Amino acid sequence: MTNKYMYFVANWKMYGNTKSVKTLKNVIKFSKFSKNKKLKIIYCPPNTLLNDFSKVFKNSKISLGAQNCFHEDGYGPYTGSISSKMLKDIGAKYVLIGHSENRKLGETDILVNKKIKTAINNNLKIILCIGESKSERRRKKTHYVLRRQIVNSLKDIKKLNNIFFAYEPIWSIGTGNILNINNLEKDIILIKNFIKKRYKSSSQIVLYGGSVNLKNINEIKKIKILNGFLIGGASQNSKKFIDIIKKSYI
Ligand code: PEP
Repeated sequence: MTNKYMYFVANWKMYGNTKSVKTLKNVIKFSKFSKNKKLKIIYCPPNTLLNDFSKVFKNSKISLGAQNCFHEDGYGPYTGSISSKMLKDIGAKYVLIGHSENRKLGETDILVNKKIKTAINNNLKIILCIGESKSERRRKKTHYVLRRQIVNSLKDIKKLNNIFFAYEPIWSIGTGNILNINNLEKDIILIKNFIKKRYKSSSQIVLYGGSVNLKNINEIKKIKILNGFLIGGASQNSKKFIDIIKKSYI
């Protein structure tokens, strides 16, 4: 895993407050002294903390990401919404789009596609989340669902250079359950091959997300074609997050 960049994305979801900023010291120190030049750490805090995190990460090796963006860009009469342009302004370099927790609330592939376009316009890197539900997997629809999500989300988008994919089986998020490693590897290969064939892009970054923790990282890291991890629950504790990163390199 050491001859290519490895991405560790912390998704804090709706957790954290202004006091949480203190806990980032450890991670900043760890990233500063890590000899591994291929390590990329990205934090996606809730919007209320973007400004604080942005200040703390200034001059560090850690990048800032947002958890979502609105599907219209710029400024406008959209109460409660935050555009890609605003995220860029606050210092975000990445944005998660299509997370299943947002899809569950009604976010469609059409909205995901619009959001991706606004992020591209603002030079944000996109982490596009895709994944199947339990019943889709049971009905052997996983590959169909993944292909459909990719194609619809990327409608009219020609260049994928700023788009990362995060494969997150919905039923795995926050449950402690993960796929058996052989099946997980098969799904990652399917995603990579599909993108290669359809978009002529052979070096697409694909992350895995879904209950990554200290107990299962040794197993998941055996999948050498993975480019990193999107980590929810376990990323909120900086010690656990650092230990997962360390274990991924051994
Ligand atoms: C996520 O929210 O993207 C995620 C993977 O969460 P968890 O690690 O808690 O399953």
